[in-house]
Amino acid sequence: MDDCVFCKIIKGEIPSKTIYEDEIVKVFMDINPDDNGHMLIVPKKHIADFTELDDETALHINKIVKELKDKVYDRLNPDGIRFVNNYGVYQLVKHYHLHLIPCYEPKQPIVDVDIIYDKLK
Ligand code: 5GP
Ligand code: ZN
Repeated sequence: MDDCVFCKIIKGEIPSKTIYEDEIVKVFMDINPDDNGHMLIVPKKHIADFTELDDETALHINKIVKELKDKVYDRLNPDGIRFVNNYGVYQLVKHYHLHLIPCYEPKQPIVDVDIIYDKLK
């Protein structure tokens, strides 16, 4: 979709800090992290929201998410991870994405995304 910010990121028209990429998904750092290591798992084809997500893509995302979980635990040592899928008015970008948000106890101050990206890439 021409006016979709995530389609533009996927096409390389907008830069992103990419953690992982294959023919089905792209994973990149959230520009405004809720916590250190906040990333987005985004299918490359334009899927508006979870109701349009096909089983094949969902299964692939599930597989990638488990690999990302291992990497996040290895590099960032969080206490847990929240997986968030916003819908309706809570979904601001209308291209399906799964948030992967590491969490820390006690809560850590948010540091520059580049510092975290250097640990994850
Ligand atoms: P939503 O509310 O749609 O679930 O969340 C959209 C997320 O996309 C937000 O966490 C926001 O910070 C992130 N985001 C929006 N625009 C950009 C962008 O241009 N680049 C990156 N990396 N993240 C973005
Ligand atoms: Zn899109």
